[in-house]
Amino acid sequence: MIPSGNDIRLSLSAAAAYKLMHDAMANDGYAVIPLSGYRSYNEQMAMYGEQVELVRAEEEVTLEEAKFIAEKTVAEAGSSEHQYGNSIDISSNGERQTDFLSTEQGRWMTANAWKYGFILRYPAGKSDITGREGEPWHYRYVGTVHSEYMNKYKLCLEEYVALCKAECPDAVEEEL
Ligand SMILES: [Zn+2]
Repeated sequence: MIPSGNDIRLSLSAAAAYKLMHDAMANDGYAVIPLSGYRSYNEQMAMYGEQVELVRAEEEVTLEEAKFIAEKTVAEAGSSEHQYGNSIDISSNGERQTDFLSTEQGRWMTANAWKYGFILRYPAGKSDITGREGEPWHYRYVGTVHSEYMNKYKLCLEEYVALCKAECPDAVEEEL
């Protein structure tokens, strides 16, 4: 893991790709603020716990209900992609924005992120396939070989992996 600015950590390959993307965006006159990159199991557990508490402070619900609601925005420890070091949350104003994709920075990302190996991990229109609500701030580095194809055919990661498996059923599964 190497630092990528603002205390945000990413895997080496994701950080290098992020820097290239960041510089290209700056050349076009835009900037985004990275909010969160690699998170350890303990950090994720703390974040999840805080979110559950937040829900319980706001609504009168059981612990199970609070967990269900919390998991729409924060994954439980062990099930967050942030623990792999290839995912990053970004923003144009320092907050997680549900309308990020309609900001200038979001439009730039939609047009260009794939060129640097990044994909929008949880598109709003594919929540039935990804199992997660839309997260317009959450990008994942998968490498340009994969991101180019996924962009061309508008596939989310689950669809792409299913396609790869169908094409090559004997292939050994590798962490993307
Ligand atoms: Zn995220």
